Amino acid sequence: MAKRNVYPVRNTRATGKKSKISNGVYFFGGGKADGNESMKNLLGGKGANLAEMAGHKDLKLPVPPGFTITTDVCTYYYQHKRAYPQGLKEEVRKALEKVEKLMARKFGDSNNPLLVSVRSGARRSMPGMMETVLNVGLTEKTIPGLIKQSGGNARFVYDAYRRLIMMYSDVVMEKAAGIEPKDEQGIRKQLEKIMGQVKKEKGYKTDTDLTADDLKKLCSAFKAKIKEALKKEFPDEPYDQLWGGIGAVFASWQGKRAVSYRKIENIPHEWGTAVTVQTMVFGNMGNDSATGVAFTRNPGNGEGKFYGEYLINAQGEDVVAGIRTPGPINEYSKSEHNKDLVTLEKTMPKIYKELFDIQKRLEKHYHDMQDIEFTIEKGRLFMLQCRVGKRNGPAAVRMAVDMTIEKLINKETAAIRVTPAQLDELLHPVVDPKAEVAHKLLAKGLPAGPGGATGQIVFSANDAVAWAKQAKKVILVREETNPEDVEGMRAAEAILTARGGMTSHAALVARGWGKCCIVGCGALHVEHAKKELIVDGRTFKEGDWLTLNGTKGNVYEGKLPMMDVSEENKILMDFLKICDSIKRLGVRTNADTPEDAKRARQFGAEGIGLFRTEHMFYGKGSDEPLFILRKMIISNTAEERKKALDELFPYVKRDIKGTLEAMDGFPVVVRLLDPPLHEFVPREKAKLEQLARDLNITLEELSKRAEALHESNPMMGHRGVRLGITYPEVSEMQIRAVFDAAAELIKEGKHPYPEIMIPVVCDVKELNDQFAITDKVYKEVLVKYNLKKIKHMFGTMIEIPRAAIVADKLSQVAAFFSFGTNDLTQMGFGFSRDDIGSFLPDYIKKGILPDDPFQSIDQEGIGELIKIGIQRGRSTRKDLEVGICGEHGGEPRSVEFCHFVGMNYVSCSPFRVPIAKLAAAQAVLKQKNNKGR
Ligand code: PEP
Ligand code: MG
Repeated sequence: MAKRNVYPVRNTRATGKKSKISNGVYFFGGGKADGNESMKNLLGGKGANLAEMAGHKDLKLPVPPGFTITTDVCTYYYQHKRAYPQGLKEEVRKALEKVEKLMARKFGDSNNPLLVSVRSGARRSMPGMMETVLNVGLTEKTIPGLIKQSGGNARFVYDAYRRLIMMYSDVVMEKAAGIEPKDEQGIRKQLEKIMGQVKKEKGYKTDTDLTADDLKKLCSAFKAKIKEALKKEFPDEPYDQLWGGIGAVFASWQGKRAVSYRKIENIPHEWGTAVTVQTMVFGNMGNDSATGVAFTRNPGNGEGKFYGEYLINAQGEDVVAGIRTPGPINEYSKSEHNKDLVTLEKTMPKIYKELFDIQKRLEKHYHDMQDIEFTIEKGRLFMLQCRVGKRNGPAAVRMAVDMTIEKLINKETAAIRVTPAQLDELLHPVVDPKAEVAHKLLAKGLPAGPGGATGQIVFSANDAVAWAKQAKKVILVREETNPEDVEGMRAAEAILTARGGMTSHAALVARGWGKCCIVGCGALHVEHAKKELIVDGRTFKEGDWLTLNGTKGNVYEGKLPMMDVSEENKILMDFLKICDSIKRLGVRTNADTPEDAKRARQFGAEGIGLFRTEHMFYGKGSDEPLFILRKMIISNTAEERKKALDELFPYVKRDIKGTLEAMDGFPVVVRLLDPPLHEFVPREKAKLEQLARDLNITLEELSKRAEALHESNPMMGHRGVRLGITYPEVSEMQIRAVFDAAAELIKEGKHPYPEIMIPVVCDVKELNDQFAITDKVYKEVLVKYNLKKIKHMFGTMIEIPRAAIVADKLSQVAAFFSFGTNDLTQMGFGFSRDDIGSFLPDYIKKGILPDDPFQSIDQEGIGELIKIGIQRGRSTRKDLEVGICGEHGGEPRSVEFCHFVGMNYVSCSPFRVPIAKLAAAQAVLKQKNNKGR
């Protein structure tokens, strides 16, 4: 393989002169290649992979020869008013000569012509977002030569010519020229109309009914239409076509679709695209030709089986466009949709075997699932493309686990392969199976995107965006989607199409995003203009509700309930074990009931980082304790309060005991009562009356006492430790409940480990005060139960900026800190956590804040407070345990931050536990990588 130096592009804007760019063209073919897989930045994903497939010593696959024009050229092109660097044309010509030699054909030759494809290829795949031109080099002059090559198949040649004219006029002459026709007025649509008319006049059903003569006439009609509509001749010179195609691909990098896709996917606009020019091979040269798309493993569920689709006598675009239903390549790839079609394995057994062996080698070589495109030309197999295959979340997790078992990858690679968002897909709701059984199936399609979704139907991408903006859940229903629809697809909860296969545009995009999606649902009749959907003789209008099960491909009328399945998922558990073996951060959960605690254990939570005591007064079964709590709050005298607290004690103890038991052996952080008391005062008249009766006071007296609790700014008012300072008996009751519960469990042979946490602390003296109560109660309980020790800790939340600053003093009393980043963000920014919605969108829109700081830790400001808190806290107590229990504890970027600042654990809601584990493992690997650099 020739070694080349690649120099950065020199910017010659100042002089206005063209400069030379070193090696703008990289050749591949005939078992050799100038580039290789590592050169994705320069050659694009596609170009680099073609080079690897063609030239790597372990592969040397049958790749049609060609060359790649680098992304540097694209950068140059945009920096120089769309001009090419000096010498590029010569480089292209020379590379083309090499191709001509290998293929024994000549570009533009009337006797034995070479045809090429011109394709885009960015560093990262942008499916369908940029342009392609096929059959370049086919002209009136070269037509006879191609007819000869094809063994006299004039029909095939004129069909190729009409495809070139359609594509070229659309991509090069219209789109790249910046012409923006009105809806349905584009040149491609106009040409399709002409073709449609011919078919109608002749009574043809499909394109394949068109004869050579029909197609020849069509080509002339197309050219005339192009001249009339675009005021330009269709170019009939091969090199004009080639450079038109190359320019159009470069231009498509800045096309609307590509730009909006890059925004969604966070792909930098500066990257640019490479252009690959490659020998055309034809899957439509007759019944001994075919084309297909395959995956080395099933991208829908991750099963390690070769999976794909193919079409006999067709070109690649036919598979992706979803116009004809592709056949399955093997038995395994059969579905409801294509079960009656014959497999490639049956029709072309030798070729299938060759393809099967190649895919095995490819996966072994790349150590990952590959998405491959192939063409069979007159019984000869060609590999057109291979790249890392997109997969949905469930598939990503399964492949990571399986490939580790197969020793194809190590566990570190497995943990890096799955993104937190993909893991999140496994935790997404699915349609409740019980409800599904009870509901009549409306229609069935292909399961292209996992999980369940319910929403109101809309029929255009624009409507999907508009409705979603109004916080409506929508399902985007289309005949089939195209790249123009991406923003609407993004905004929708789910996508439903009437046509297309598992490799159609909708399926590809939805799979990449892990969005619920059903394609090829043939029973649907979509009336786009009327915004109606007809299924089985019934009409559904815009705004009607449907429910989709994207894992099975089932469509239901109405709104079905959703549920979670992740708890029983063995593969998920195996994957989490891999994460556990890598991560250093502990992952605990925020759980407020014994049930939550049990569920969190199933997810592998290593303890509870926050048990909010007050939550036992909300929700199921809370009526009685809440009533007693209210009595306590409204009490006027210490005596009244004491009585109420005594009544409350068994309830508090019961919940704490249940939780400690569910988490046996693991730490449970029990936080003392935090919210301002006024929050618990009832608002309904009947409840107020009942409370007055029970306390034996009048309603007026009750209102007066409740009024006295009212505060103008309760979040900064009488809450947290301040309650314990004013009412020490409230703290005492809770602390006694904790120790009594623990003592009872010890007596029952269990291993409780409570950590008592004081909220909203700003000064060490507050802690001293509460510690004295804790110590007193602890000693009393030891005596009462005749125990020597109850394993426990006393600690504090750090959620007021002042607490972070005086952390060195707090840690003299507190054995652990837990960062309450909800309040720390509220008080650090001075943003009310309950009212941020009124201004946050403006802040994000204007770029004042990059994200919602209540979702992802603001590392620049709040993060600094955290670092200060940890560093100062540990300066006086080396073994200080540090965790986080704000909502950020389950957000991947924040988890990574917590790892890097040296916390001991994060704590998050039960359903976020798997994501936190993955993020914690990935943080370790990132750190290792950084050190390695
Ligand atoms: C916090 O402030 O981050 C916290 C966990 O406590 P709460 O949300 O209950 O105020
Ligand atoms: Mg708080």
